[in-house]
Amino acid sequence: MADVRNWQLNRDMSYPYEGNRPDRQIAYIFDTNKCIACQTCSIACKTTWTSGKGQEHIFYNNVETKPYGFYPQAWDVKLLDMLGQNDWKKDVYAGKTVFEAAPEGERVLGWLPQEEDYAAPNIGEDVVAGQIDGGSFFMGIHQAWMFYLARICNHCTYPGCLAACPRKAIYKRQEDGIVLIDESRCRGYRECLKACPYKKVFYNMITRTSEKCIGCYPLIEKGEQPRCVQTCIGKIRLQGFLSKPGEENPENPIDYLVRIKKIALPMYPQYGTEPNVYYIPPVHVPREFLGQTFGPGVENAIKVYKSAPNDKDLLAALLLFGNTPRTLHAFRADKDEAVGFDNTGAEVIRVPYTEPFFARDFFDGKHEAYRHNTP
Ligand code: SF4
Ligand code: SF4
Repeated sequence: MADVRNWQLNRDMSYPYEGNRPDRQIAYIFDTNKCIACQTCSIACKTTWTSGKGQEHIFYNNVETKPYGFYPQAWDVKLLDMLGQNDWKKDVYAGKTVFEAAPEGERVLGWLPQEEDYAAPNIGEDVVAGQIDGGSFFMGIHQAWMFYLARICNHCTYPGCLAACPRKAIYKRQEDGIVLIDESRCRGYRECLKACPYKKVFYNMITRTSEKCIGCYPLIEKGEQPRCVQTCIGKIRLQGFLSKPGEENPENPIDYLVRIKKIALPMYPQYGTEPNVYYIPPVHVPREFLGQTFGPGVENAIKVYKSAPNDKDLLAALLLFGNTPRTLHAFRADKDEAVGFDNTGAEVIRVPYTEPFFARDFFDGKHEAYRHNTP
């Protein structure tokens, strides 16, 4: 085991390999407040990458309703239980990571899902926490809560899957940090399924190899955002690249939102893999639940998120979500518009702060036609 720095835990931790951060790290921000669970992302991904035989249960992207949605069944609560006490002392993680809690002779603490754990991808969908009493009605504030959690592979800085593979078939690309499986080396031992804390590696029973999200690397190499990001109906997603700790660039929207404004947080950072999908937490959910899911930065993240209407730069970064297929490397606020730039510095998107409003005349004199059915 080597000592590596995990900035999300604010401390060093043990990892089976030496730390080697990529030149730039693929990263995503998902705004949970905007997701409507339409599952367009899940289907866009599935029809692109996993529509073959043996892939029926494979969802590189899925969206589950928290607190009762899971895919596979109980994926997170099971590991939280195994990990035991996972407390924070302010912003330093005081518990053990999945690497530090690994049993004797193993590299990662984990568990292997069984076939039946994949039987109900939409279990718990739209189920709220708590009880709704008979006769209740909506009075402006909901009496119970739930939220939609969109999930993909986190392309972790310290991947559990990679650490556990006895064949060294899993690798992390130096140029963008995407984590891939070399199918020709894989022998289907499923150690990666067992070790991934997010259960984002799947086993294909036809090819007898493991498969996982490939970060849509053919699109990334063209300077475009992945399919799940481009197709998102709710415009909840932004993909870009996170700089190395200490090298943050305030013009980079990912650096700005994750490291400077700290509005987007990793999911279950206590697992220790340094995941690179960052979530803007849902503002209406009990803080205790959010603290366990997204770590100690929740209160600040929600406070900053709510201040967005009065912060032009922050608003600019948030407005760029879901508005261009291009991967954005820089952004700025320009009067009343948010502007995004690609890797060459060319402007690729301009979004107004307020949507323009056009009202057409009720009667079109030129064509002598009414524009509405009812005059
Ligand atoms: S497409 Fe977007 S809004 Fe729809 S479920 Fe996926 S993440 Fe949520
Ligand atoms: S989320 Fe799982 S599959 Fe993806 S890199 Fe991390 S450990 Fe590997």
